[in-house]
Amino acid sequence: MTQSYGKAGEILRAVGFELDHLGVAVRSLDEGVKFYRALGFSEMPIEEVPTEMVRVGFLNLDNQASIELLEPTSDESPIAKFLAKRGPGIHHVCLRVKGIDEIALKLKAAGVRLVNETPRPGAHSCRVVFIHPASTGGVLLELSERS
Ligand code: ZN
Repeated sequence: MTQSYGKAGEILRAVGFELDHLGVAVRSLDEGVKFYRALGFSEMPIEEVPTEMVRVGFLNLDNQASIELLEPTSDESPIAKFLAKRGPGIHHVCLRVKGIDEIALKLKAAGVRLVNETPRPGAHSCRVVFIHPASTGGVLLELSERS
């Protein structure tokens, strides 16, 4: 799969992107937020994302990016599986893009391994596609388009 690193990178570079957020898996939002409260984050809007079986809390940074804490709502949640395997920690990096449908088609055509080939609903009514770590050098990469 090494050859698809370059392809995913070239496609994303051509369409443009910004860092949207870092996703951090936590066992519970109450526990997970403690460090960030100490960092000075006082607000954490919470949203449930049924498609991912998670509750997410957003810590918004001044530079338009954010940190997303993800708490599983079911043992079947990908986050529950991640926590069981590795414990709490960085789960994914999210890049904000425009034209996500077309980008997903291009990535798929280039042989990039996608977790979901069709954009699906994420938090904040965004639409998201996940690129498998095998195609990014080891990091689960979320692409997100704001509606
Ligand atoms: Zn995310």
